[in-house]
Amino acid sequence: MERPNAWKKYKKTELKKVESLAQKYRSFLDHGKTERECAAYAAEALEKAGYILLDKAIADKKKLKAGDKVYINQMNKAIVAFLIGKKPLEEGMNIVGAHIDSPRIDLKQNPFYEDNDFALADTHYYGGIKKYQWVARQLALHGVAVKKDGSVVTICIGENEDDPVVGVGDLLIHLSQEQAGKKLGEAITGENLDITLAGKPLEGEEKEPVKAQLLKILKDEYGLEEEDMLSAEIEAVPAEKARDYGLDRSMIMGYGHDDRCCAFAELEALLGITEIPEYTCCGMLVDKEEIGSVGATGMQARYMENAVAEIAVLMGKSSELTVRRTLQHSRMLSCDVSAGFDPLYASAFEKKNAAFLGRGVCYNKFTGRMGKSGSNDANAEFIGKIRKIMDENYISWQTAELGRVDLGGGGTIAYICALYGMEVIDSGIAVLNMHAPMEVISKADLYEAVKAFRAFMINA
Ligand code: MN
Ligand code: MN
Repeated sequence: MERPNAWKKYKKTELKKVESLAQKYRSFLDHGKTERECAAYAAEALEKAGYILLDKAIADKKKLKAGDKVYINQMNKAIVAFLIGKKPLEEGMNIVGAHIDSPRIDLKQNPFYEDNDFALADTHYYGGIKKYQWVARQLALHGVAVKKDGSVVTICIGENEDDPVVGVGDLLIHLSQEQAGKKLGEAITGENLDITLAGKPLEGEEKEPVKAQLLKILKDEYGLEEEDMLSAEIEAVPAEKARDYGLDRSMIMGYGHDDRCCAFAELEALLGITEIPEYTCCGMLVDKEEIGSVGATGMQARYMENAVAEIAVLMGKSSELTVRRTLQHSRMLSCDVSAGFDPLYASAFEKKNAAFLGRGVCYNKFTGRMGKSGSNDANAEFIGKIRKIMDENYISWQTAELGRVDLGGGGTIAYICALYGMEVIDSGIAVLNMHAPMEVISKADLYEAVKAFRAFMINA
């Protein structure tokens, strides 16, 4: 039952492909540190491959037929792409979905204050983080500020070599006796994850001169007033670039593998389909998974369903029933990272059912916590079909479960899509240090995931 390590099967030419894919992915991570940046990357790649905005197809009253490519851009934070297949829509789509939001530290709406010759920003973290991992490290600021006239100012500070970085302070070890005695989860508080932004008073300013210095920079370099922060979304993320990990360069360490490795693999898989598929292929890159898939850009919003309804009409089918049948008869890989086995924390896993780095794409029959609660539990019939597709396409794959029973757990977007009555299984890439500022995946697993997602879209 043990799954073989994928690295063992690669010959010279395939090793080269694994490496070139990894390089492309590292660049994707470096340019996509927020959901907005990932959505922009995806939209550009789709446009280049001949996908057109669904809104444009609707305006042009375009008749959609097999081979046509359309996509939607939901508020610049989620993308859903469709490659129309030969079979009737009602026979269902082959859907691959991943999320493009990652844990981070967000600035509050009224962020700035001055305290003892520092200007700082108040924050509220996003997603599940171990707070102690986010202090005393280089952070970059990414995001947008929207002015009252609707103009959008894009902010990206800390990515260029000569950019400044920002960060959250930690207490020196010499004075940490009290802090060190606290529980891990309580040693750093959420309200104390404030970001230091400036430390020099503005000349001639009496009242809060360091904050004045900060505001002057925002005004001079970005044309922003303090009040513009009220309608801003600014995320503090690790400033480091993704790097090869391990002396053998077999892995990648970087920010946001969860779940941008699956998002990237999905996009590569979809764009790699050059033939007209039997069934319509759908690639989803969604937002807000880390906070429960809520909001208008999360999976719980109905933009995918709405898009299917629009597509049905453009294909000459106006019945509501077409949409319901299409979704009910669809098949889906809900792609998200899986907890990779870490020998340093072996006791957190049950080894026969753990995901191992390098052993290929993972399939999780269920996720959830304490008796599978909150999980989508994939049907055995569907898993049988997946096994056949994977084996017939020489894909390295493994089955996995998120850690030892009753130790914790997690969820994905799977259960939301399953509400339509479609077949869904959790699939993805094993990651170490999940939700840490720097996560680790294996290059082999990324390569196998692209092959797996493509094989699924063509054969499921
Ligand atoms: Mn995830
Ligand atoms: Mn996550």
